[in-house]
Amino acid sequence: MAEQIYQQALLRLEQAAEYSKAAPETVERLKRPKRILEVSVPVRMDDGSERVFTGFRVQHDNTRGPAKGGIRYHHTVHLDEVKALAFWMSFKCACVGIPFGGGKGGVIVDPRKLSMLEIERLSRRYIREIAPIIGPDTDVPAPDVYTNARIMAWMMDEYSALAGQPTPAVITGKPVSRGGSIGRDDATARGGFYIIGELADRRGWKASEVRIAIQGFGNAGQQFAKLASGAGYRIVAVSDSSGAIHCEKGFDVDALIKSKDKSGKVTDHSEGDKIDADKLLELDVEILVPAALEGVITKDNASNIKAKTVLELANGPTTPEADEILADADTLVIPDILANAGGVTVSYFEWTQNKSSYYWNKERVHDELKTIMTREFSAVHDLKEDRGITMRTAAYTHALDRLADAHEATGTRSDF
Ligand code: NAD
Repeated sequence: MAEQIYQQALLRLEQAAEYSKAAPETVERLKRPKRILEVSVPVRMDDGSERVFTGFRVQHDNTRGPAKGGIRYHHTVHLDEVKALAFWMSFKCACVGIPFGGGKGGVIVDPRKLSMLEIERLSRRYIREIAPIIGPDTDVPAPDVYTNARIMAWMMDEYSALAGQPTPAVITGKPVSRGGSIGRDDATARGGFYIIGELADRRGWKASEVRIAIQGFGNAGQQFAKLASGAGYRIVAVSDSSGAIHCEKGFDVDALIKSKDKSGKVTDHSEGDKIDADKLLELDVEILVPAALEGVITKDNASNIKAKTVLELANGPTTPEADEILADADTLVIPDILANAGGVTVSYFEWTQNKSSYYWNKERVHDELKTIMTREFSAVHDLKEDRGITMRTAAYTHALDRLADAHEATGTRSDF
């Protein structure tokens, strides 16, 4: 599976290479990560024993800026998966034009089986092991699956102790009280929401007539539902790992979030009807928002999808075969590297604030995020129209052009 994910990433690169100005040498170089580090992470457990975990840090590319990408704690972490995720980060950062490369880290561990103190010891030791290759100007980690703001604070604290000085810019996704940015909590959803706003303007949509189904009701899904319903869109279906619910007139999203907070399940909510979780993807809606897992839109269900717009807040929800089926059906798939790039964009704001020690207010974070998301969405959409390609290929081509500019600026390309 992990090997397959990496092959899928390379396939996207090859598709974009057909339309990009990138030299074949640049494309070849981007097929391989720049650096891979594997570390063993010994941790003293609460019972006095020692366990040794395996961790990775992969830097895919750092030509446009420091490698950037999260750290994942999961028992299924695999080097090929980390390589693919680092690759995607290079393309995501290039797609929205922020001056970062791509990186990713992971530790093979089931954090649910560790105590809080064990997780702290693991986090501090992992960061010490990868410290030789990270830093504010070389590689800047962030949270990912099963890591959070508190873990980032421990890691920043440990790195600062090693460096002998406070170094908040070494990591993003920190608590606001330790140098995190205001507005990071809903940044991923907000970025996608600004894209939908831009699309609505272009298509003359009336918000109350636009029905939205959201798969996944965690951070990204909930925040998106809140922003979209606040703007008058109808959130008609949501799901989580407990199942899915549907309400044609649109949910009261604040009430839905309250009941999810209380019971942990959307299916315990009193409004709407329970539906089969897989059927959520196939509902008659205008916009489908996968915001949970990868590989959920496949060749088996793509032809049943009725939404004409798919906003990929999740990473990798659509398989390449499904992409082709959706393209044939004229469905606009706004790809993950663009749709969910709001998160890394506000991480970039966090890093710049740490470097300058000047902290922004919420309005500035939102304004600058909106400028970037709408500008890059428009550039990708124009490229799609000009070349007659899908939004995904256009987003990768747009990113690859930027990566090529950076790689080839020190080379001998004749059009410089
Ligand atoms: P999260 O853990 O907060 O939420 C995930 C949600 O998906 C949960 O509600 C969970 O119950 C639900 N889920 C799990 N299995 C499901 C299933 N089979 N069917 C329906 N729902 C299911 O995670 P998140 O931070 O919201 O991230 C969601 C996706 O967005 C991931 O793919 C992540 O990589 C991507 N993403 C998130 C961010 C961010 O800033 N949070 C940034 C970029 C990309």
